[in-house]
Amino acid sequence: MSTNRTFTMIKPDAVANGHIGAIINDITNAGFKIIALKYTQLTAETAGEFYAVHKARPFYGDLVSFMSSGPIVAAILEKDNAIEDFRKLIGATNPAEAAEGTIRQKYAKSIDANAVHGSDSDENAQIEGDFFFTAAERF
Ligand code: ADP
Ligand code: MG
Repeated sequence: MSTNRTFTMIKPDAVANGHIGAIINDITNAGFKIIALKYTQLTAETAGEFYAVHKARPFYGDLVSFMSSGPIVAAILEKDNAIEDFRKLIGATNPAEAAEGTIRQKYAKSIDANAVHGSDSDENAQIEGDFFFTAAERF
């Protein structure tokens, strides 16, 4: 398990609003290297599986339907202190509370459609990256 990698998704809202390029630019400008990258769409089933950890939360159904509502960009990123630094770069879950200059503050409009995902631990970064990418798709 590596402490220098994280997993991200550009969520359907940010893709639909034309922010793919700007968000990838912010990510690379912050010093993250792209290890794997994919443009794809989750089904209700795969979104449900990805977010299974949130099954008991009241917003789970809405989250699954939102995350399968349109295409997303999935990526594995590398940088020293990746998990913490990426969470800092994206800002608080609720964009209204996200710090100035963070990705969610700039590109998200609501707590559910909040532009990006970022792993919360090394263990989850590994699991989430494995969910989307084979060994041959990582560079
Ligand atoms: P984060 O993405 O910041 O790690 P969580 O892991 O707590 O946040 O939640 C996962 C995702 O579920 C959030 O990014 C957001 O899309 C959605 N979500 C979280 N809290 C709420 C809420 N109170 N209402 C609606 N959606 C929520
Ligand atoms: Mg989370």
